[in-house]
Parts: sequence; C-alpha cells; structure tokens
Amino acid sequence: KEQREKKIFLDGQFVNEADAKVSVFDHGLLYGDGVFEGIRAYGGRVFRLEEHLERLFDSAKAIRLTIPLSLEELTNAVLECCRTNSLWDGYIRLVVTRGKGDLGLNPASCPKPTLFIIADAIRLYPPSVYERGLRLHTAAVRRVSSEALEPAIKSLNYLNNILAKMEASASGSDESLLLNEQGCVAECTGDNIFVFKHGELATPPVSAGVLPGITRREILRLAREEGIPAVERNMTRYDLFVADEVFLTGTAAEIVPVVEIDGRTVATGKPGSLTQKLLLRFRALTRSTGPLIYSSGRPAETE
Ligand code: PMP
Repeated sequence: KEQREKKIFLDGQFVNEADAKVSVFDHGLLYGDGVFEGIRAYGGRVFRLEEHLERLFDSAKAIRLTIPLSLEELTNAVLECCRTNSLWDGYIRLVVTRGKGDLGLNPASCPKPTLFIIADAIRLYPPSVYERGLRLHTAAVRRVSSEALEPAIKSLNYLNNILAKMEASASGSDESLLLNEQGCVAECTGDNIFVFKHGELATPPVSAGVLPGITRREILRLAREEGIPAVERNMTRYDLFVADEVFLTGTAAEIVPVVEIDGRTVATGKPGSLTQKLLLRFRALTRSTGPLIYSSGRPAETE
C-alpha cells in the first residue's frame, strides 16, 4: 500500500512530517517539561476524547502550563488531525511542552508552549499476546514516588518506566511491574494492573503511585456492571502470585492477560475468563461511543 506523508498538527497548523520540527531549546526535550495524552480512534470515532482532554488540561494546570487552545479548539484539532490523515482506526498522540527557552530550567524563559498532535496507525500487541498472556518481571527501579511527582500528572518524565522496560527485555520477560517505595504494587511501564481473587476485582489506588488510567476507570465500571465487586486497594507482589487472574489495562494495550510473574504461574497459566469477558465488553464499547471523525460515513481513502 502506498504510504502518504503524515500531516502533523504543530503549533496551530498542519505540516508535513518532514517539516514537523521542534527546537533543540524546547524544554520538553531538555527537561521533560510537558504533558501528553495517548488516545485511540476506533471505527471512525475517538474513544473517550473528553476524558483524555480533561486529564491533559488537569495535568497542564498542575504544572502551571497554559494550553494555548481552548477545550473546544483542541477537540476540533484532534478530529481534524484524524481527518487530514484519513484515520479510521489508529492512535493519537497529543503533546504540550513548555516550549522553547534558554538552557536554564526555569520555565520563565519559555514564552510559548509547543503543541503537537500526531494521528497514526497503531502498532498493536499481536493477537497471540491476548491468547497466550504476558510474562511479568518485577523491576529493580521503583515507580517515581507520589510525594516526588503527583502520579495523576501525565508528564513527559518516563525515564524510570523506560529503565523498567529495559529490565523486562534483559530478563526475557514481556513487561515490568513497578513497585512503589513502600514495596506495594503500582503499575507497569505504560499500563495499570488488576487482580481478580475470590470473586473480587482489585487495582492499586492512585495514592500508590499510579496514573488514573482511562481504561482502568472503564474496567472498574464494566466489572461493577457485571455484578463483580471492584475496589481500589494496596497490594503486594504476593497478591499477584496467588491471584485467580491478573491483567493490565491501557489505551494502547486495552486489556492484556498476565500469566506469569517472576517465575510464578498465575493460576492455570492461561488467560482467565473474567479477563476475556472484560476485553470483549471493552472492545464492544470502544466501537460504539465517542465523537464521530467523519459526519457522513466512512470515506473511501481511510485505511
Ligand atoms: N500507567 C502509565 C504509566 C501509562 O503511561 C498509561 C498509558 N497512558 C497507563 C497507566 C494507562 O492509562 P490509560 O488507560 O489512560 O491509557
């Protein structure tokens, strides 16, 4: 298939990918000073766009960064970016940095934030991962303490997650589990974690140092709709070892089963039935809600 050049929304206009450049003096690059969102489009609709934009504005507010567009303008920019790139199913990355400044870290030298939106195809986990499940490894690096950096802020600081991801690869596992400084389970490198045991679903609270994931929120809700008690509770690695089911949730991953943790097989070593049920329900939901990208059906040029 012929690859058309991607158009990036950068500082108020659409530019070709090759021209989508950000300064080497941008504090997003120099200091990780910025916030972002990862969003999915499913079947010509953007899933939970409002919630993602609300989280973005909240993250920006918490770091005293003024987003240069209103909520309505940003909503339109995301939808327009999808249309410009003929996106039907895909991934949207929305980034706002402190902008170009001097070499000092003080954001006072940055008069104008940088804002860009990329709408692209998504690289999914292969279907085998959903059928077979992931093997987790507990990382030696800990999740950044919630007392150092509020975990609800979706900032550009992912270095410890990256180090944890490298540990997973080095240990021959698929993904790393991050504990907090107290040794309680926090989350994985880009996903929240859930445990099902004795008929109850549990996930660590935000205070344990986890991003309040949008998929996490949907899963808590869907489980309760299924009549399953779903709670936020602190847990240790032991709770994962002895669980009936463990799974991860995230925008890119959706719901992925976990079948092994630090050499311990979770239950039978096969993805659990609740995990599969929630994945089906979640997938149905993603295709039936969210603002429409195209007002009059699927255009022929969409991929
Ligand atoms: N935790 C971290 C650290 C993440 O980066 C993500 C992905 N945004 C998540 C959890 C899952 O959040 P969401 O369901 O909103 O994608």
